[in-house]
Amino acid sequence: MDAEIIAVGSELLTPFRQDTNSLYLTGKLNSLGIEVRFKTIVGDDRERLAASLRQAIERSGLVILTGGLGPTEDDVNREVVGDVLDRPLLEVPELRKSLEERWAKLGRAMPANNLRQTLVPRGAEWLPNSRGTAPGLWIEQDERILVLLPGPPWELEAMFEAECIPRLARRAGGTRIRTRTYKVVGLPESEVDRRIAPAFKQYTNPETTILSVLGTIEVHLRAHGSNDAEADALLTELGDKFELALGDHIFSSRGESLEEVVGMYLVMKQKTVATAESCTGGLVAERLTRVPGSSSFFVGGVVAYSNDLKTRLVGVPAELIASEGAVSQPVAQALAEGVRRRTGASVGIGITGIAGPSGGTPEKPVGLVFIALADDRSTEVRRFQFPGDRERIRTWSSVAALEMIRRRVRE
Ligand code: ATP
Repeated sequence: MDAEIIAVGSELLTPFRQDTNSLYLTGKLNSLGIEVRFKTIVGDDRERLAASLRQAIERSGLVILTGGLGPTEDDVNREVVGDVLDRPLLEVPELRKSLEERWAKLGRAMPANNLRQTLVPRGAEWLPNSRGTAPGLWIEQDERILVLLPGPPWELEAMFEAECIPRLARRAGGTRIRTRTYKVVGLPESEVDRRIAPAFKQYTNPETTILSVLGTIEVHLRAHGSNDAEADALLTELGDKFELALGDHIFSSRGESLEEVVGMYLVMKQKTVATAESCTGGLVAERLTRVPGSSSFFVGGVVAYSNDLKTRLVGVPAELIASEGAVSQPVAQALAEGVRRRTGASVGIGITGIAGPSGGTPEKPVGLVFIALADDRSTEVRRFQFPGDRERIRTWSSVAALEMIRRRVRE
């Protein structure tokens, strides 16, 4: 069975709201072995919705509509579905009763508009909404299934989980889809592709997709099998080849972020880290403290932006800054060693660079970043020249710093 999702709501056609419901639904449908073949976003407009719905019913075995079930005039899904399927809307006394009881509990009279939510196309099943008032709808016609779900994600997810997954699981025909993501750092996308293409080109199942994500590369695998174990075995078969080709550039295959992996190694090795950041403005500290339990490995950090603070808070000699410049290898080193010394952390990180857009010179162009790591064995300083704008340079710097910690601590 193939699925199609129609997200209804004029706000989803503005720059301000995204259709995230379809991402959630696609993940859940995939794990039931159901592929999503089309997605549509349509505004709160009867004609356009009716046209989209007719086309969807024509070509897909399962059509899911989200949103547009509320009590207001622009919530037209119920009526449009009734029209397109040629089924009159009938009031369900049970729904009316429970809605009236809800309003009575609030001590208010129910606005007449809300009665729309008690109408159901003839022959449709209604789906209880445990987190809101608008019931969903489940309609079967000519071997096709049409499902209407409420727009708010919190309501939709609970309803889909409780009402739809069990119904769909009974019909999904026994194929399962399983996924795995290998996260890779320190290699450009083209190199990742060069290394793993010979392996993945031999497989149509699993399918492989390579994506570049904020300074890292993700390799996504999707496998179909008649059960979870069969699909997982396929993931492992191809995944093992990727692990061989990419080696320790892979930092995660179970969904962990780079900072989570770094935190895990620090805890395992009973080490702590402190940061002295200039151009990243605390981004490395921010990322490390995203990890729950980070207090066991992150001591603290300094955003030493001005030269004066680099000296006063981290102990970078003023003469060094004057002679080498704030963005230089020795200053990065002094930041890492200074913050380590002053905090007592096992690992000190120092970052200094030019994030732009201004401030670059021919000798020290925008994107030049020095990152130093100091521990009890030695201090390593690396020089990077990152491409792109300010945000990108800062993000890539934070990835590079985390990667330096990962490599040092796991040794
Ligand atoms: P309500 O009873 O709240 O009116 P509804 O079923 O009519 O529910 P909408 O009015 O279409 O739903 O949407 C309500 C809110 O749900 C929207 O403001 C939006 O924040 C969120 N929403 C709707 N559709 C989506 C979607 N596809 N992805 C993510 N959020 C959505």
